[in-house]
Amino acid sequence: MTTKTTLIDKAVEVATKAHEGQLRKTGEPYIIHPLAVKKILEDWNMDDDTVIAGILHDTVEDTDLTLKDIKEQFGKDVAFLVDGVTKLSKARSGMKNLESYLPETSDNLLKLLIATGQDVRVLIIKLADRLHNLRTLSALPPDKQKKIARESLDVFAPLADRLQMGRVRVEIEETSFKYLDPKRYEELKKITEDRLKSADKKLKNAQAAVENILKKEHIKYKCDGRVKSIYSLHKKLAKYNQNIDRIYDLIALRFIVEDVTTCYLVLGLIHSLFHPMDGRIKDYIAMPKQNGYQSLHTTVITPDKQVVEFQIRTQEMHDYAERGLAATFFYNEQKLTSAYTEGRVSKLPSNLLWIKELQETATKLAGGEKVDTNKLKLTLFADKIFVYTPKGDIIDLPQGSKPLDFAYRLHSEIGAACTGAIVNGKMVSLNTTLNNGDIVEIVTSKNSKPNPGWLDKVETKHARHKLLSQLHSLIPNFIAKPTESVPKPEKKKKKK
Ligand code: MN
Repeated sequence: MTTKTTLIDKAVEVATKAHEGQLRKTGEPYIIHPLAVKKILEDWNMDDDTVIAGILHDTVEDTDLTLKDIKEQFGKDVAFLVDGVTKLSKARSGMKNLESYLPETSDNLLKLLIATGQDVRVLIIKLADRLHNLRTLSALPPDKQKKIARESLDVFAPLADRLQMGRVRVEIEETSFKYLDPKRYEELKKITEDRLKSADKKLKNAQAAVENILKKEHIKYKCDGRVKSIYSLHKKLAKYNQNIDRIYDLIALRFIVEDVTTCYLVLGLIHSLFHPMDGRIKDYIAMPKQNGYQSLHTTVITPDKQVVEFQIRTQEMHDYAERGLAATFFYNEQKLTSAYTEGRVSKLPSNLLWIKELQETATKLAGGEKVDTNKLKLTLFADKIFVYTPKGDIIDLPQGSKPLDFAYRLHSEIGAACTGAIVNGKMVSLNTTLNNGDIVEIVTSKNSKPNPGWLDKVETKHARHKLLSQLHSLIPNFIAKPTESVPKPEKKKKKK
């Protein structure tokens, strides 16, 4: 413990020195920012390596400190995390770079995940980084504010949601929305406050009635009120014709109880007090939301004619809803390393298994281990497959891709020099369709040249384009056969 604490202090020292003389746009010394990121990560109960990497996250990009220095002083895990964050910001600094980083992916979120595939802690550091930048956005010129706010709303809020970090998602959404549409934000804020004020007494009555009955039944509970966030109100109003009377969950009363059985018991007790509204009872415990959210919801009408939503959940469900993946670290007091990837962590919510699988495979391959690829099911991105280089790098391709698509994705020279492909240790024909989780190795030879027959063996536009231009320069007067320009029936582009 003491050594680790010393390491955190040392990281602060090293970062302070490295950033010396640099200023933020606010005019404050730069180190304010890494220290704020440190604080956020500590609040999320992240492990020491993550906190240290958070302190150092901008050093490699912006100072003289090198990855090698970090590795020597703080170990390879920290260096790996810092490297991931650095790559990630390089990957997204300007959409152009991002495109060239992963040419064929259209989903920003996916790109982020792929870029950092091996360790989800990289994303968590990135979220902490973004959160602090959003909190201090006022120092930037308006056009930059809008750009960052937009990106945060489009990429980082869904990312937080995917990681189930509800509280972070809400803060990102609220702050971004405030910069993107300040007028609307204030308007909705006022509406919410007015509603709250007018309902205050009736809500207190309802709460008191429930608390009363819980005490009588000797049920331990915690209760708090939650007001719908401005941004989600904005989204919901758009769905309901701007009719705020149709928003039943503007204000909710939340009861946190000891276990699942008690959740259902409390639901029953609430219904014994108030009349539930038709179709408004939701069992997200038995059927969690897609992002893993669990809770019982019911909307009732109180004798005062007040519509109230109740949310009932356990402390653990509450923590997951608020802190998501970060809560997983807290509950397990371990990071996403061996114990995690070996499946010994029981509390990883099932919807986050894709992270585990992605990581597991990458880690094993990197360590030279054999991987049972049949076990891999990455259902999150159904129209994509993920294949691996023998070194464990993750490459995403559209479904139906073949070895040449993979080869050209790695590099057009690798594509050009391809003489064969080894998939999962077996030599295969270039016509083989790749599957999720395949480990693909391209055999090359310096003397090999692409040939026109390959045009039937590529599926992706990227590979076809590269191949065609190579053929044009190799073969004078080369004309692709007309049939080859007829587009193959492509799968539907993903729906938004
Ligand atoms: Mn930063």
